[in-house]
Amino acid sequence: MLVPRLIERKRDGLALTAHEWRALVNGYVAGQVPDYQMSALAMAVVWRGLEPGELAALTDAMRRSGVSLDFAGWATPRVDKHSIGGVGDKTSLLIAPMVACCGVAVPMISGRGLGHTGGTLDKLESIPGFRTRLSLDEAVSQVKRLGLAMLGQTPEICPADRKLYALRDVTGTVESIPLISASIMSKKLAEGLSGLVLDIKTGSGAFITDPAQSLVLARTMIGIGEAGGCRTVALLTAMDRPLGHACGNALEVAESIEGLRGCGPPDLMEVTYALAVEMLLVAGAAPDRAAARARLEATVRSGDALDRFTRMLEAQGGDPAVATDPARLPRAPVTMEYRAVQDGVVAEIPPRKIGHAIIALGGGRARTDDAIDPAVGFVIPAKPGDRVRRGDLLAVIHARTEADAEQARTALDEAIVIGDRAAPLPLISHRVTAVGSEPLG
Ligand code: URA
Repeated sequence: MLVPRLIERKRDGLALTAHEWRALVNGYVAGQVPDYQMSALAMAVVWRGLEPGELAALTDAMRRSGVSLDFAGWATPRVDKHSIGGVGDKTSLLIAPMVACCGVAVPMISGRGLGHTGGTLDKLESIPGFRTRLSLDEAVSQVKRLGLAMLGQTPEICPADRKLYALRDVTGTVESIPLISASIMSKKLAEGLSGLVLDIKTGSGAFITDPAQSLVLARTMIGIGEAGGCRTVALLTAMDRPLGHACGNALEVAESIEGLRGCGPPDLMEVTYALAVEMLLVAGAAPDRAAARARLEATVRSGDALDRFTRMLEAQGGDPAVATDPARLPRAPVTMEYRAVQDGVVAEIPPRKIGHAIIALGGGRARTDDAIDPAVGFVIPAKPGDRVRRGDLLAVIHARTEADAEQARTALDEAIVIGDRAAPLPLISHRVTAVGSEPLG
């Protein structure tokens, strides 16, 4: 295999064969294809895209670069939810226990914060003691016992994606529909799922900002999922403002616990229920949307979902008392209120700026090996469209030092725009399945 010739072909817009993709992926994992060639190839894909056959071959080669969760002989349906990444997006923490309480198993392999977005693993690791590094055997046996496990990608799962993702992160090759699709779907197909629900974020704070392109991403990922025998459905949800109020790891865990107690912010609960309903439908665990929603609401009302979350904390070494006393989560020593400086309508709360301000507070990573401060972030009860008066509370800053809090205040001055109107995207705009897309907004 002459890698430079393959790069040239892709550069010139020609398709590589399935055999060539397999050889490239295997060679890359084995260290025979160096990073510089792989990054040139990734850039060629960013510009030229992939034919459907190439996408299938690349995804399959990435999935086969490692092992899969093995649920052979276990009849319980297994469904996961995956978000493309956002700010304040903590739906996974609510969904996994709620859905598990409805008899659908959730083997959830999550990621860390990426760019300006937060990651489920970082949120979970803000819970004292919680272990996200489970072996695959441990994960499978916990899913069989408890109905859920929330863990990080292990070195055995899709090592090709691990390596390629780190390379894309530093070579300007993240924003590519085929590369994002292959990356996510190779990992999801390795979870041994019967169904998958995708939360495709759209709007200024999403990796793919244009709603039309978000639909293309949804269709691309659904195509891969269905071809791999995994029923896949997507919802397009707004990421032109943070989801819920809390943005920052421990703050988001605390808000998730409020949600499991039935008092989460309305937008967070709406997206959570909508995704969880799709999970039950994909699993065949409810006859229709209304029945699915009623079952899920009952898990919250009865306290079963919070109890299941607590049992997961226990099983994975986390402090279970956090579920009843979120004050046990790490807390930032400095809090500072941020108030409106004029009357008007909250026009914008751009997630990218909020995400970057969290990174500046120490709550996210500028580099993949940076340590993070789990306690810092923002609680932003204001939403675009809210009418506010001068002096109204818009946000609370949680910081390690006064100086950090002051810096965050300046960041909020730049981020939160008060004007005379707002045009937020619909919270949930489309439902996409293998047969087409349906506008919901
Ligand atoms: N998340 C992933 O796992 N991969 C991507 O390419 C983008 C987001």
